[in-house]
Amino acid sequence: SSSMAAAAVGEKKSVHDEADDGRIINFDHGDPTIYEKYWQEAGDKTSVFISGWQSMSYFSDVKNLCWFLEPEFGKEVIRLHNIVGNAATDDRHIVVGTGSTQLFQAALYALSATGGTEPISVVSSTPYYSFYRQVVEYMKSGLYKWVGDASTFDKDEPYIELITSPNNPDGLMRQPVVNRSGGMLIHDFAYYWPQYTPITSAADHDIMLFTVSKTTGHAGMRIGWALVKDEAVAKRMTKFIELNSIGVSKDSQIRAAKILQTVSDSREHAGDSKDFFETSYHHIERRWKQLREVVGKTGIFSTPEFPPAFCNYMSRLFSTQPAFAWLKCEGEIENCEDFLRSHKILTRSGKHFGMSPKYVRISMLDRDSNYDLFIKRLSEMRT
Ligand code: PMP
Repeated sequence: SSSMAAAAVGEKKSVHDEADDGRIINFDHGDPTIYEKYWQEAGDKTSVFISGWQSMSYFSDVKNLCWFLEPEFGKEVIRLHNIVGNAATDDRHIVVGTGSTQLFQAALYALSATGGTEPISVVSSTPYYSFYRQVVEYMKSGLYKWVGDASTFDKDEPYIELITSPNNPDGLMRQPVVNRSGGMLIHDFAYYWPQYTPITSAADHDIMLFTVSKTTGHAGMRIGWALVKDEAVAKRMTKFIELNSIGVSKDSQIRAAKILQTVSDSREHAGDSKDFFETSYHHIERRWKQLREVVGKTGIFSTPEFPPAFCNYMSRLFSTQPAFAWLKCEGEIENCEDFLRSHKILTRSGKHFGMSPKYVRISMLDRDSNYDLFIKRLSEMRT
């Protein structure tokens, strides 16, 4: 397609060469198509071949607590965490899910299913990932209820706190904020990878969620994984997935194993291919540099600042460069989403994240052709 061809040459052109055909740029979602280019260049070594007779059974490993986890995928998950150093893997159970979205629901079920008669409160500090609220509410569950902002939660009762670090939408590193013991925590580490943020230590929490969607960009594979300390919790999460979908696509797990293996190999067998995280880091770094430049020039918006930290993976100091830009319209503009829509740029309003409509969230992970056009439009904006 023409956009793929444009994506392939995008780096070589100046953004101002891009003709504005007046098309709508949709940065409302976080579709990670920025990574297509790396995987196109990686070529055939990432292909998998699956015969008609393969991956037919429901079962992957009946001896494993998570009986639908493909052993090869589990092995590559541990290998990658050990190479990147972003999460402790010793003495944990791996639960695979259809995206981390399913695992999030499995975790809610696992933490609330043994509770009392009242639904347990689910909190996350604002601005929170907008999908959490919808997912918690859509089934009208009797097990849990959405309460919202964790920073104002002071009820003396059990609760589940969602911690997203780096956070979607604003990119800040986060810790639990409810100042009480007895809370149950779910750590969403979708973005705790070195192309986005310095890896300062191996995360070591009870329930940690990851996803290939944001690690390698394979959102369409629908594969996520949870690292779970407690055996009973891991068992209940597995039970949820059994009831919900009787396991997780084996074809996808086999493909995910291959992709993770390629990422690890790109680090360990340097020379064969470009380090995936280094390459992706530089791609996103260029985008943030362009964004900060036009934002500084026009004065219409502001963006968050991030403190530098030493990354153990990259062996250097840098600041978080999030997968989303959390833009604030300065001055007169009250509705930032409407303002950008008038320039044919679709964004997600701050109000979905429990914040003011002066904010919008913008995907930084779209294809070059769209990102370049976005920068061009920003640079020409006047209020
Ligand atoms: N958690 C966060 C913080 C996310 O931003 C996303 C994707 N937008 C997800 C989870 C869901 O990812 P998946 O594709 O694995 O369901």
